[in-house]
Order: sequence, then structure tokens, then C-alpha cells
Amino acid sequence: MAGLKLKNLNKIYPNGFHAVHDMNLDIEDNEFVVFVGPSGCGKSTALRMIAGLEEISSGELYIGDRLVNDVSPKDRDIAMVFQNYALYPHMTNYENMAFGLKLRNVPKDEIDKSVKYAAEILGLENLLDRKPKELSGGQRQRIALGRAIVRDPRVFLMDEPLSNLDAKLRVQTRAEISKLHHKLKTTFVYVTHDQTEAMTMGTRIVVLRDGYVMQVDTPTNLYEHPENMFVAGFIGSPQMNFIEGELNQEEGQLFFSFKGGKVAVQEEKAAQLKSLEEPVKKVVMGTRPEHLEVDTIPSEEQETPVENKALVEVTELLGSETYLFLKIMEDQTIVARVDPSIKVSVNDHVIIKPRQDKMHFFHPETEQSLLT
Ligand code: ATP
Repeated sequence: MAGLKLKNLNKIYPNGFHAVHDMNLDIEDNEFVVFVGPSGCGKSTALRMIAGLEEISSGELYIGDRLVNDVSPKDRDIAMVFQNYALYPHMTNYENMAFGLKLRNVPKDEIDKSVKYAAEILGLENLLDRKPKELSGGQRQRIALGRAIVRDPRVFLMDEPLSNLDAKLRVQTRAEISKLHHKLKTTFVYVTHDQTEAMTMGTRIVVLRDGYVMQVDTPTNLYEHPENMFVAGFIGSPQMNFIEGELNQEEGQLFFSFKGGKVAVQEEKAAQLKSLEEPVKKVVMGTRPEHLEVDTIPSEEQETPVENKALVEVTELLGSETYLFLKIMEDQTIVARVDPSIKVSVNDHVIIKPRQDKMHFFHPETEQSLLT
């Protein structure tokens, strides 16, 4: 078991592409850290540098207290699980799991103990005599996890290990990996492009964009206090709504005004916005679909002009909740996630009420949050 320290880590590929920029991160022993971001953001490159599969262009990487920049992958005391399992087809699952230990000349009875221990943890006891092709995708991935466990590594590295599984199996295996982390009490670093996976598994999440770290935080903090619009939009599904507008003061009360409406800003948030070193007028307000309350308008008042009116363009019934796609301006549609009992139809008008305590404000140019 060991923590990890990434100090100003950079990766510039031989063709000159700068894939990871000055990455700084302290991972504590026994953490489950997830690297998440869209395709090409550099998450696999960062993980592969930790694994030793990719050379570090500059910066320092420590596993525990040991500087490992120039240590070969096999001597880093890590185990890596890939999305394509990488099992040997001609070997039985037992042999696949035992292979790494055999190479290290570990005595046979010790290998047997380790393989059986890993098989028990993962519920694989009955599959050890079969070959990988006789297993389902989920079972194969568990063998790959088992092969990593038998090595008793100080750090587990996983690169999109669930992406070859169907949706149901992905959810199951996700829970299994979380359980595994609790059982093994070892450091996990996990790469995914799927924010749900990141939110459900990680004790801390590193959000990456174009090779830069955008925020490192717990799932709750990322969701409640995103530091910029990228993180705000990336974490959460359906994604946060962004509405451009202005801050205006009327009789001491701060309002956020946009084309077609205005919303009072909660006192605490208003105080923060008023005390900014560089005052702003134009802002982007962010409201999550689940924090956008919707009031219906009686049919006889549908055409009456009122503030914060929106037109229902689409309704999506999902059983436990309904998504309403609401046109608020000529060119903007936002999404509200509401209780299915709400009675609205397409082309109805409704009134939108973003929850004041859940409103976010961002700088329109820097896209940084204006609140702490
Ligand atoms: P994905 O989810 O698609 O795997 P990722 O976030 O893991 O994406 P990386 O594989 O780390 O992204 O790649 C980061 C960037 O580096 C991409 O723009 C990619 O094209 C580039 N890249 C990756 N490998 C090389 C290479 N060997 N030479 C040059 N550029 C590379």
C-alpha cells in the first residue's frame, strides 16, 4: 500500500504534442482516485506515466517515498487492469492469474494460496479451470482483476476497465470494484470518460481537459461547488443549464436578469458577488435540471405575459422523473428534471423558478466560478 505524488508532471509526445500539462496531485494511501474527462483529455497518458508505460517528459513521480521516474514498470509495485482484459487465450484462468507470480519464481504453494484468495474475493472459484473464451465479458474482466490482486500491488491502476461490458454488467462490476477497494484497502487510480462512474466510485476525482487539471475534489464538492463552467457542465446528467444575463441591484436586492425574466439572488451569494475584487455585471448563471422548479400556468392564463415564462418543447417521461425541455429565449432551451406527477404538455407555457440556494455564477469570459 502506498500513496502517490505527481509533481509538475508533463508529457510531450515525440511529435511535439503536449498531452499532459504540469500535473500536480497528492494521492493518499488507500484513496480511490478517478481521472475523468472527455476523449483526448490526457487521462490515459497520465495513468500510463504512473504505470511506467509512457516516459515522463518532465516532473517527478513518487510511489510512496520513492522517486520512480526511471524505475521500470515491473519494479514499481503496481498492477494495471486494461479495458481489453489482456488475458492469454491458451492458458486457463488459473494459469492467467498465476502467470505474473510464476515469472517471479514464487513457490507453487504460495501461488496457489494467492490465486485462491483472489478467486474467493471475486467469486471466481468455479471458473478457474476454464479458458478465457469460455467466460462472459464480465467474468473475463474479473479474472483480469484477479490477476492484478494476486500480485499484491501497492497501487492498482485501471484504464476504462468496464467499457467493454454492457450497461447492466457495467453497473454490477462497478459495485464490485468499489467493494474490492474496501476489502483490499489499497490505493486505486481509475480512468474513465464516464462521469457517473467517476461520481459513484471515486473518493476523489480529477477532472481533466486538454491535458490540464480543471479541479480535484470529492464527488460532492465537484457537484455542489464546481470551480468553473467546464466542471459544472461535465459533472451531472442531464448537464447544468447555463443562462447568460446581468446582475442588477434594485432597492438593495441583487437580481440576475436575463431575456424574459429575472431571479433574486440569495443573500449569501449576493454578498459574495458584491464583494468581488473586480465587480462583474455580465455573468452566466448555472442551474442544474433538478434545481429548476417549474410552476404550471392555468389554461386561461397561458397567453398572459409574465416573467420567467418558458415554452415546453419536449417532455421525456423516464418513470421516476420527467425531463422538460423548456424554451426560455429565442435561441435557448434549458432542461428541468421534475416529478412525473406534474401535468404539462408540449406547447404549454410554464414558469421557471431556479432554486436560489443552488444557483451558480460564472465569469462569462474566464468561465471561473464567482462564488467560493
Ligand atoms: P480516450 O478517452 O479517448 O482514451 P484520453 O483522455 O485517455 O482519451 P490520451 O490517450 O491520454 O487521452 O491522449 C491524450 C492526447 O494525446 C490525445 O490528443 C491523443 O491524440 C494524444 N496522444 C496519445 N498518444 C499519442 C502518441 N503516441 N503520440 C502523439 N500524441 C498522442
